[in-house]
Formats: sequence, C-alpha cells, structure tokens
Amino acid sequence: LVVLDGVNKHFGDLHVLKDIDLSVNRGEVVVVLGPSGSGKSTLCRTINRLETIESGTITIDGKALPEEGAALAKLRADVGMVFQSFNLFAHKTILDNVTLGPIKVRKQSKADAEAKAMELLERVGVAHQAKKFPAQLSGGQQQRVAIARSLAMEPKVMLFDEPTSALDPEMINEVLDVMAQLAADGMTMICVTHEMGFARRAADRVIFMADGAILEQAAPEQFFSNPTTDRARDFLGKIL
Ligand code: ATP
Ligand code: MG
Repeated sequence: LVVLDGVNKHFGDLHVLKDIDLSVNRGEVVVVLGPSGSGKSTLCRTINRLETIESGTITIDGKALPEEGAALAKLRADVGMVFQSFNLFAHKTILDNVTLGPIKVRKQSKADAEAKAMELLERVGVAHQAKKFPAQLSGGQQQRVAIARSLAMEPKVMLFDEPTSALDPEMINEVLDVMAQLAADGMTMICVTHEMGFARRAADRVIFMADGAILEQAAPEQFFSNPTTDRARDFLGKIL
C-alpha cells in the first residue's frame, strides 16, 4: 500500500534518509524504532509530503506522491498523521475539530460529518466531551481526539510519530489501546514509538533505523529476542 523506493533526503550536509526502501502492505502495522536523530520523524514526514525528497519514489495505493496542488491535498487526505503534540484547533470544539476536514476537504454535509464524528469519538472514548474545547480535556483525551480527527478523513494509512511521548504515564495506555484497536480493525499503520509493549502486542513488523538507514526489519518477537546488528543490540540495551 505504501512503497518507498530508493528515497534520499538531506538537510544541508546531513544525509537524513539514505536509500530507504520500504514496502508496507495493506493492513500491516509497522513500528519504527531507532535512536534520536536517526530519521524516524523525517521518514514519516516524507510519506505525508511534509518534506520533499531528492531522489527515489513514494507511492501510496499505487499512486505516486504528487509534487503539489490539488492532487497532493487529495493524496495527503489518504494519509492520516498523529504527532506528539496534538495540534487541535484551540478555539473550536472537539466535534468541530473532527468535522472540519471532512466538510472542507471531503465535501461532506455538516449532518453527515457530525454523525460520523460522533461515531469516531465514541470509538476513542471521548464522545461525552464533544461540545468541550481542547483545553478542557486531558492530554490523553486530546490525543484520542486527534486520532478521531485523522480517522474522519477515512485515510488509507495512518502515521503516528511518538503519539504518547508528551503524555503523563497514566494516559499512555488509553492512547495505545485505541491504536491497538485500530490495528486489530485492519488499519495500515506506521508507528514511531518507543512503547515496546505496544510493538510486541500490535506490530507485524519492527523496523530499526540508525543514521538515516534501515538496519533491521523483523517480526517483533524476533527483533526483540535476537537483534542482528550491534546498533540494535545497543539500542535495546538502553531502552528495555
Ligand atoms: P527523535 O527520536 O529525536 O524524534 P528522529 O529519529 O525522529 O529523532 P529526525 O527528527 O527525523 O530524527 O531527524 C533526523 C536528523 O535530521 C536529525 O539530525 C535532525 O537534527 C535533522 N533535522 C530534522 N529536521 C530538520 C530540519 N527541518 N532542518 C535541518 N535538520 C533537520
Ligand atoms: Mg522524531
């Protein structure tokens, strides 16, 4: 569903993505691990075209990522992204946050968008907060709203970049549970996270990045019990 072929990206002299080849199947859940600065966020951002690439190709559901314009907006709507900071619109209600994209980009009627939004807010457990503003919700609740907002666009793939790292510990699991449920429901997902419990429970494949390259990819049980590179062993030694 998502295919990267020979993708390269520099920031000035820094070669942040080095010949990345990656193919993610429909319904597959991939967890991306790696030390700080290894290029995990940049990888997510290139898949969503928030960053340009210098060489290589990225296709989503068989379509090449367009450079710009309406085609890009349309394709970007197929790729949901949830960041560490929730980025909700502070002056809009939870419900409006979720319906805005579907009404503007997907051209849904307000009534349809609201019905769908309530369903999604129900699914992530915050339907009773629909009329509130983001600041009135906990971090974990806001992040679940951010997930619902992405889902409202009916994306083909969801990207998560450390969605729980800004949360207090007691809120991490409520977000991971929503993600695990989404995975179980068959969503195609690429998740940057250092939550190893989630990786073991939900990932079909773990990818280990270091210095802008993919050094290892394996099923989680295999990667955690038997990493094949020193870099990965080192990394696991530090975080487990
Ligand atoms: P972390 O675990 O800390 O989030 P990461 O694996 O997500 O790290 P990236 O954010 O992708 O790493 O960054 C990869 C490298 O690119 C880092 O060295 C970073 O400093 C650099 N970098 C990222 N964004 C930019 C930018 N906009 N301009 C210049 N350099 C950047
Ligand atoms: Mg990052």
